Amino acid sequence: MEQEPSFFSAFKTWMEKPNGVENDPKTLVVILRYICLLIIPYSLSMGFMMLVFTKRAYSSVFFIGTFAGLLLFRNLLSKPVRPIFITVIIMLLLGAIVPTFMFGWDLGFQYLLYTALLLLLFNSRLGTPQKRLFCLIALVLVILLEVCIHGPLSGVLNDRIIAGSIQIILGNEIFFVLSISAIGLVIAEVSLDSEHELVMYNAKLKDDAGTDPLTGLANRRNMREQLAGIAALTGTADSRIVTVAMGDIDFFKKVNDTYGHDAGDLILRDISDLLVAFMGDRGLVSRWGGEEFLLVFIDLNGDEVFTELDTFLHRLAKRSFDFKGTDISITMTFGVSEYDAGPDFTKTIKEADEKLYLGKQSGRNRVIF
Ligand code: GH3
Ligand code: MG
Ligand code: MG
Repeated sequence: MEQEPSFFSAFKTWMEKPNGVENDPKTLVVILRYICLLIIPYSLSMGFMMLVFTKRAYSSVFFIGTFAGLLLFRNLLSKPVRPIFITVIIMLLLGAIVPTFMFGWDLGFQYLLYTALLLLLFNSRLGTPQKRLFCLIALVLVILLEVCIHGPLSGVLNDRIIAGSIQIILGNEIFFVLSISAIGLVIAEVSLDSEHELVMYNAKLKDDAGTDPLTGLANRRNMREQLAGIAALTGTADSRIVTVAMGDIDFFKKVNDTYGHDAGDLILRDISDLLVAFMGDRGLVSRWGGEEFLLVFIDLNGDEVFTELDTFLHRLAKRSFDFKGTDISITMTFGVSEYDAGPDFTKTIKEADEKLYLGKQSGRNRVIF
């Protein structure tokens, strides 16, 4: 059975939905969604804490922050990212600078500065010189804030704030750690994506080299080259009787749908091994396409190949393939055609294909010659 998507994977998919604006950097959109989602409970709890510990109007600013976070998050689902990005940066900068000026360094509001800096650094639209400038500005700001707090402006903390400082510091530290994690995780996934591209590229290299990466069989390209070699012998003393068989796994889509793609892959590998063992030194096996195999028999005519394949199918029908403890039964259909010593194998393969089709039409799990 295909696994139900977990809550987390469903949530992740939803968070990663494109915003539908052409050329908007996807990574930034996703990161900003996480940050806005964090801003909502963060500013809400900060608002309450400020209200309790300072009984001042500062708290309302944080409640506005909560509202802004909600609004920005909603806009991130469909609106251009640029104005949202700028708004979030301004909110974070104000959130870092103003409270630090007013209440001091110890409450931890300066952490918001680092979140803003990370967002700027991971915006793929900004160039390296700009990013260096932001690092410099951040450094200056940190120094300025530190100087101001330990300078003449410090000492405005009242008793209530000192009493509440543990909770406020905790809130700021949690926001800092979570926002850094969100940015880091999304970026890590993007770099994994490029790693995935590398894997695909390696597979392509292997393909160019003539081997199918999943099954290790010759690929279509490789097989075509070998067939060209055989066709070139026509009319010479080395010319041989050649018969081809096109085989296709029956109802393979259903295997994928029922047991998952990994089960499908496993069966493709197992079938390939069986076909290689079956062929022995009688000829060549290749993976022609998805679940299609082209077999080339040397020195066997169509009738002989028919009998051999018929025996193979009987054996195949009796066995089952084990996927993580589940037994899966597989059948195949083959179309067989004799090579007519033509200039190439195009016609022979076409005939084998047509007979395969006939086999599918007439009920599958059979050989047609
Ligand atoms: P039929 O009996 O008529 O051949 O039906 P079928 O379901 O086998 O044929 P169909 O062409 O509808 O589906 C073939 C399936 O093979 C669809 C595709 O997802 C699957 N497939 C192709 N290549 C691979 C692969 O490398 N791995 C896996 N797991 N599935 C593959
Ligand atoms: Mg099939
Ligand atoms: Mg097919």
